Amino acid sequence: MAEDHDLIVIGAGSGGVAASRRAAAHSARVLIVEADRVGGTCVIRGCVPKKLMMYAAGFAQAFEEARGFGWVDLAGRFEMNRWADAKAAETARLEGIYRKMLADSGVELVAGRARLLGPGVVAVGGRELRARRILIATGGAPAHDAIPGLAQAMTSNEVLDLRELPATLLVVGGGYIAVEFASILTGLGSKVTLAFRDTHPLRGFDADLRTRLATALAGRGITLAGGVALQSLERTAGGFALHRADGSVLTADAALNATGRAPNTADLGLAEAGVRLDARGAVAVDADSRSSVPGIWAIGDVTNRVNLTPVAIAEGRAFADTEFGRRPSRVDHRTVASAVFTDPPIATVGLSEAEALRAGPVDVYESDFRPMKTAFAGGAARTYMKLVVDGLNERVLGVHMIGADAPEIVQSLAVALTCGATKRDFDRTLAVHPTAAEEFVLMREPVRRHGAAPATGS
Ligand code: NDP
Repeated sequence: MAEDHDLIVIGAGSGGVAASRRAAAHSARVLIVEADRVGGTCVIRGCVPKKLMMYAAGFAQAFEEARGFGWVDLAGRFEMNRWADAKAAETARLEGIYRKMLADSGVELVAGRARLLGPGVVAVGGRELRARRILIATGGAPAHDAIPGLAQAMTSNEVLDLRELPATLLVVGGGYIAVEFASILTGLGSKVTLAFRDTHPLRGFDADLRTRLATALAGRGITLAGGVALQSLERTAGGFALHRADGSVLTADAALNATGRAPNTADLGLAEAGVRLDARGAVAVDADSRSSVPGIWAIGDVTNRVNLTPVAIAEGRAFADTEFGRRPSRVDHRTVASAVFTDPPIATVGLSEAEALRAGPVDVYESDFRPMKTAFAGGAARTYMKLVVDGLNERVLGVHMIGADAPEIVQSLAVALTCGATKRDFDRTLAVHPTAAEEFVLMREPVRRHGAAPATGS
């Protein structure tokens, strides 16, 4: 039977929309299927509303600091309902933009749940759709299986739809989502306990960022309950009780399950079509995002590679350029910058000090200071910056920062890292003064030299 389309994309999140628009730009006839709202996790129930909530939380500290700058009579109260209405309007606006972008690109949008029927055939509702290529871009969803009882807790989805702030909140987990919401809800006024099993939150990040984040969160009044394995979450008459391996029990009015996300691969007909999944249920793909079945590709969180929006977008565009644009391209997953939107925020690109050390000699440069704005207002918050430099050829391997504006600053420095900048390139870059970012080009002597040759001479 003739194919109606060149490409069917399943999932209209950031990755699926980017792939379909790029394929359409290469003159492909594209159809995209979405069971929920257009825009996916990032726009509807992730990055965007999270950041809008972060902005809301930031005003508490801004009002505090304003007093130090001479402002008087500042008083206020946060009404979550108002924020929720404004957020709902903004996500609806953005969803409208996404729908318009698809329509303007000539991509056909079909609402419904898609299921693979075989190579090149997808069922949506009563319809059978056909295309030579199929792209799975169904993303991920909060996982509930880390410990018993988690299904009763809120996830990031529900927190972003709250209309009333819980007086006390138990955050279960110590990853991105856990620390971001612990920080944000503290800013809004909840009393938060963060329960995680490692010694510090954010496993995998540079150790100096992890310890400083822990200190900063504790300084803002968050109870850090780390270093003990978590056993089960129980719903009680008054709220929630988290049972830990040492016999201790942490309680709160509300609980947030932030123990990771799982790929959305259920009920898609993948197994029947012969698509291989990995041990975590993600679609197994090669460097070109091909699944084990010819004609079926997958991108974004459903492949569980680097689960970040810009990575999904890049994977989607690389797929479309390769398959429809005669411009073969691949995504380099090695140097991906990322940020954690806590207060203070973290941003990082490249290798941590520990990772770099495994590869050879390393020089470490640091700067640790109280930023001008905070110092003037009498605040205690500090900013910390680190450069991890190859001890043999001076190439900058990692840039790490915790402090105000870290995500904005590190995004720019990621360009330098991508270009292979050396410490000497940083040194010959003139500062923009007065800024915090200038400290990155003013680091003169290493604070540590790992694996350096011993000094010679008398
Ligand atoms: P993460 O993988 O970042 O964190 C999961 C957390 O759950 C870890 O602290 C982990 O602990 C903990 N955990 C898992 N199993 C258990 C267990 N059995 N007992 C106790 N603790 C457990 O997942 P998130 O859900 O926070 O985020 C998902 C992904 O979404 C991130 O990896 C990131 O890619 C993306 N994201 C990005 C954001 C950004 O860019 N700012 C923001 C939010 C999400 P341990 O470390 O000890 O294993």
